[in-house]
Amino acid sequence: MRTHKLLVTGALIAAAALTLTGCNSGSPADPSGGGGSGTESVIPKPAENVKIDGSPTFEKIQKRGKVVIGVKEDQPGLGYLDNVTKERSGFDVDIARWIAASLGYGEDKIEYKAIASANREQAIVNGDIDYYVGTYSINDKRKKDIDFAGPYFITGQGLLVKKGGTDYQSLEQLDGKTVCSATGSTPIQNIKDNFPKIKTQEFDLYSACVESLVNGQVDAVTTDQAILIGYAAQDPDNLMVTTGPLLTEEKYGVGLAKGDDALRAHINTLFTDGGATWKKIFDKNLGNSGIKVDQPKVDAY
Ligand code: GLU
Repeated sequence: MRTHKLLVTGALIAAAALTLTGCNSGSPADPSGGGGSGTESVIPKPAENVKIDGSPTFEKIQKRGKVVIGVKEDQPGLGYLDNVTKERSGFDVDIARWIAASLGYGEDKIEYKAIASANREQAIVNGDIDYYVGTYSINDKRKKDIDFAGPYFITGQGLLVKKGGTDYQSLEQLDGKTVCSATGSTPIQNIKDNFPKIKTQEFDLYSACVESLVNGQVDAVTTDQAILIGYAAQDPDNLMVTTGPLLTEEKYGVGLAKGDDALRAHINTLFTDGGATWKKIFDKNLGNSGIKVDQPKVDAY
């Protein structure tokens, strides 16, 4: 039976930051950017003659002749767009490509839409995207509007501070300080609900929070540690992930239209029976990050 373990130590993070400094493509783990030849090595070829009975989303995809996927594009290592090469890379982007391939669609038949944390449920409800893969935690509030396949990854809330700054070990230590996170995210909600003495600053994008931290406008950025590690690796001279324990457990799911059980079952089967592909995608994108996590078991709900 597969279990999930999660272990990130400060030393590993520091090592990862060092390892990744040499990469100047903007993508911490894969200079090839995840498109082109890099993609072909880890993403299986598009499946042929795919049938998913009873999936309104798949029917729409087939009529359109392409897949429309919601992603992040400012999160190195997870969901990233290189503005120079125009290549998308990251663990989430490759998971999204893997799903597209299982539906019969290769890179040339994918349209990506960057959607910020606060706008994900609405984009899915509106049918603007077929599915969303972008550090999207499964939770009950979101499940009222949409469904999730997965989980396909587990991380937890962490803290990013200026290099040489306080190595906070808990959120309580940030009472009176200003912490930045993304609007509509689980970490900002956690602070608002449980840590009223912490001042908050919100932006649509975590990259804006990171900029504020570098400029000294906020004391810390909080979100999933996997995201923070990507930012620290990009700018190790200025940023560090604190070494404290993970503050929450965040299970990443693939967001999709509520009630499309056929598509959800298809993606869950892919995650369950997908052989070595998950591991290859993890190793390619996060293998050098210091994150140690096995593929989680798919939850039936
Ligand atoms: N995983 C958390 C969430 O879904 C934080 C990361 C994000 O905003 O995408 O809210």
